[in-house]
Amino acid sequence: MAKGACRMAGLIVCDVDEVVLHFVSAFRAFLESEGFTLNPKSYALTGNVRRAGEEEPAGQAEVSRLLDRFYAANADRLRPVPGAVETLQALSRTYEIAFLSNIPEVYIDLRNQNLKAIGLDFALTGNRGPKGPAVRALKWASAAERVVFLDDSPRHIRSVRAEVPDAFTIHMIADHRFRALVGKVAEADLMAASWREARPAIEALAARS
Ligand SMILES: [Mg+2]
Repeated sequence: MAKGACRMAGLIVCDVDEVVLHFVSAFRAFLESEGFTLNPKSYALTGNVRRAGEEEPAGQAEVSRLLDRFYAANADRLRPVPGAVETLQALSRTYEIAFLSNIPEVYIDLRNQNLKAIGLDFALTGNRGPKGPAVRALKWASAAERVVFLDDSPRHIRSVRAEVPDAFTIHMIADHRFRALVGKVAEADLMAASWREARPAIEALAARS
């Protein structure tokens, strides 16, 4: 990992679901095939999943069961978010790249296959809970001076801001309905609507080194 320390512009730590791969749209399609709907009124899955025709949302246990079945059938076949593959491939010439995902550990290998199949052969690390401590550890292991962190979850952006204060944090989420529910995340250096917006900011950082 230390290969990059002297030559690379830094380390990009990138979330997977909703940043690199379309999770929400695939999960929504799965739910509909199972007789459920996903109409978000808040930035969460639980509370927004309903059995068709029912007013009361499905509880945590049922959403977890649905998620588990979804991952088992789909963890290796999600579609890439537009721009993700070409941008990360291009940035890998100047940055070390690491994926960091809170997908359940049991599906990490399938998710890795998914990423490799679309041309993103970068190390994937599994995580539980807020991502700040894991990003701090990845930074330490790589000896990178600069860290760029991308995630769709405001909670992880805040955690990374707290643990790695000088990281450049980018909020990005592919699903437009969930995006509309996220207000300004104060701890994000950039609220990017797409990879097309994120890429020049990350390249500008590299040019500063
Ligand atoms: Mg995500």
